[in-house]
Amino acid sequence: MTCDFSLGHYRELLHAAKQGGYRFAGFDRDPVAGDLILRHDVDLSLDAALAVAAVEAEEGAWSTWFLMTRSVFYNLASSEGERAVARLRDLGHRVAHHAVWPNVDLDERFDPVVAWHNPDPEYMREPIDGAVNVMQAPFFDPDHYRSDSNQRWRHGCPHEQLARSEFEWLQLLTHPEIWAFDGATMRESMESMLDADRAARFEHLKHDRIDLS
Ligand SMILES: [Zn+2]
Ligand SMILES: [Zn+2]
Repeated sequence: MTCDFSLGHYRELLHAAKQGGYRFAGFDRDPVAGDLILRHDVDLSLDAALAVAAVEAEEGAWSTWFLMTRSVFYNLASSEGERAVARLRDLGHRVAHHAVWPNVDLDERFDPVVAWHNPDPEYMREPIDGAVNVMQAPFFDPDHYRSDSNQRWRHGCPHEQLARSEFEWLQLLTHPEIWAFDGATMRESMESMLDADRAARFEHLKHDRIDLS
């Protein structure tokens, strides 16, 4: 098995979790032994989110999707954004808020759960009025947390440890853009994303009655 960042290996990660006997969980109750809390911060691409969400649904998994209201890369208030939220809910996932400090834009689109985007240490673990902060106890502690930031697992890909149920419970943060777009490096995955984005924007131009003749 190759630990690459592809939808194929993401599927294998989910298989490993099932083999390890984990149950999927969210941020609505304290974590207990055997929980696997799948968390996704959607920084760049709703299409990538939907691609990973579909794989999870096929594998009988569900997760919590943290979506931005102030992204420069996507617009959650567009028809495309609204469709993405509806699709994630339809597939059985949860939708929460990926906030940009200091703005918390919680509304009816989101469960009352917040993950800060690129947080500074000063506020990363601070309580948030009326919402769960995912980096606060009991949801975060370093022994029960793994993240794929920039295609780098600080402690290696967790699939083997999941298969052997070595985590008592785990919050696993993954970024869908890394897995949904092809590329052996972060740079290559981003190039793939930009190619797809160009094609998508061309379609948007057509629908916007722009003369492309
Ligand atoms: Zn792996
Ligand atoms: Zn982020």
